[in-house]
Amino acid sequence: MAKVRDIVERFADFAPAFMAEKGDPIGLQLGSLDAEVNKLMVTLDVRPEVVQEAIANDVDFIFAHHPAMFRPVKKFDLANPQNRMYAELLRHNITVFAAHTNLDNANGGMNDWLAEKIGLKKTSILLPKRSEAMFKLAVFIPQDAAARLRRDLAAAGAGKVGDYDACSYSYEGIGRFRPNQQAHPAIGIKGELTEVKEEKVEVIFPARKKDSVFKAMYAAHPYEEPVFDLLRIEGMGQTYGMGRIGTLKQPQTVKQLAEFCKEAFQIPALRMVSREPGKKIERVAILGGSGGQFYTYAKRQGAQLYITGDISYHTGHDILAAGLSALDPGHHIESVCKGKLRQLFMTWNVENNWQLKIIESQLNTDPFSFI
Ligand SMILES: [Zn+2]
Repeated sequence: MAKVRDIVERFADFAPAFMAEKGDPIGLQLGSLDAEVNKLMVTLDVRPEVVQEAIANDVDFIFAHHPAMFRPVKKFDLANPQNRMYAELLRHNITVFAAHTNLDNANGGMNDWLAEKIGLKKTSILLPKRSEAMFKLAVFIPQDAAARLRRDLAAAGAGKVGDYDACSYSYEGIGRFRPNQQAHPAIGIKGELTEVKEEKVEVIFPARKKDSVFKAMYAAHPYEEPVFDLLRIEGMGQTYGMGRIGTLKQPQTVKQLAEFCKEAFQIPALRMVSREPGKKIERVAILGGSGGQFYTYAKRQGAQLYITGDISYHTGHDILAAGLSALDPGHHIESVCKGKLRQLFMTWNVENNWQLKIIESQLNTDPFSFI
């Protein structure tokens, strides 16, 4: 049976925590990483009605996009509906985990799903890209211990290059040392100069794997004082970032794209910010969530139209003044993540033989409706 820890560790390979924006309270919200999971429910929001849905469906793990605890609890007064919701979760042993801006920024994550939904092609990252730090580790080890080291480093996450894993490079050489009287040498005699046929094993790994890779290296190395080089390397880590910009399959007017968005996101209405609703456009940027403030990035990258949620009155004025058009289909369009996350979990469920039941919340948690 899978534990919460197994599931979220697999998820972290897809959308690692370091990709989250600073101060975003992602990760375990409530419950335990060691809890066993039978039934997982994916949701956009954790609201009291979503918790009731989870209880009714015997769900023991809620995986949410929006963190359940945006505001810290100061007093656990059950007169407060939010606190009553936490109490219900605890009473029913339901663990809650959130993947927010790490999912937004991940390659193949939220913003790619939104871009795909409106048919954007040739997409690239809208906000400035960031790159994951990468390291190269070179370990000097007796030749007869090298095979185990290479195997254990690969198991710890080193040596992944694109679609290849267990990548390494070796040279043969001679290591020399003289143990002093306090040493406990694995090879050689105290006070005598020793020569050993060694192998230098080189692997690369991303910064987030550093602890596990070093643990594996120390465990596999027979020497009292393992010798290694650690270098930071440039240009190899995956790049990631918020929002996407791309090209429509064919030019459409602002109004036509607005109508298309209503259908694609199944919403009855949206807000349009445009001085030229009849103008044909082709280059479009999209950013899930509350992205009004980032319209300048869309403008700078040549977007003719920007789609995001929660655009405020004054930002709307600024967008018009900048000669840009925008559509605000609301924040709830991020609910596309439910089906996509379910697909991902179903794939990992089979790969890892977790035997989980995986469902999507059927509730619409949009606080706004149109009359
Ligand atoms: Zn959001």
